Amino acid sequence: MRTPVIAVDGPAGSGKSSVCRGVADRLGLRYLDTGAMYRAMTWAMLDARVDVDDPEAVASAAAAVSIISGTEPLDPTIHVGATNVAGPIRGDEVTAAVSAVSAVPAVRERLVAIQRDEVAAALAAGSGIVVEGRDITTVVLPDADLKVFITADPEERARRRAAQDVDLGKDEVDVEDTQTALLERDAKDSGRAASPLAIAPDAVVIDTTTMSLDEVVGHVCALVDTLTD
Ligand code: C5P
Repeated sequence: MRTPVIAVDGPAGSGKSSVCRGVADRLGLRYLDTGAMYRAMTWAMLDARVDVDDPEAVASAAAAVSIISGTEPLDPTIHVGATNVAGPIRGDEVTAAVSAVSAVPAVRERLVAIQRDEVAAALAAGSGIVVEGRDITTVVLPDADLKVFITADPEERARRRAAQDVDLGKDEVDVEDTQTALLERDAKDSGRAASPLAIAPDAVVIDTTTMSLDEVVGHVCALVDTLTD
């Protein structure tokens, strides 16, 4: 298949971003990180001093926020208006607030519309796309050509996320604290009413606990190879 639409979901720290970027790069596809979009919306709320625990305030403020995602897998950019927020959206403040913001239905409606537009734009330009998040296989792109759910043991996910945090230059990184925070975020993302994290019945589940990044990328690319027009 020349222009596949690949939907990937999974919990925090499962490694799905690295896998999705690797697959998109290897197959020459675009890449959309929807988690970065929810993080950017959260950054905008914090920047405007909106109370993230007040869903009505979040919903009304969200309508005016403009989020622009770049879809190049090796350089995925993210802006709120003209501000590059790639760095700040990975900070602890945004990470702690993102589940509350992303549980607000008006936020999801707005971002899902942008996500579907990005897929349509890729296909119109003759390109396939890999889209990753929490509700891509279930809500955003239920008709995707391939649906994948990527997961790993909580201990391994915490180790990977802590290693990323060290790479990002954070000084105090504790694997146990990281695991507690990941599991709290998973519980909020899986327990919310609007588009909770869930495994689509027709998704291929890949447990990456004992797999290398290369192996997972190879596995997903092999699944793409089996698709026909
Ligand atoms: O993927 P990442 O960990 O960066 O996502 C950050 C947060 O954004 C998630 O914990 C979740 O609350 C939210 N999210 C979502 N739906 C998506 C992608 C992310 O609710 N499709």
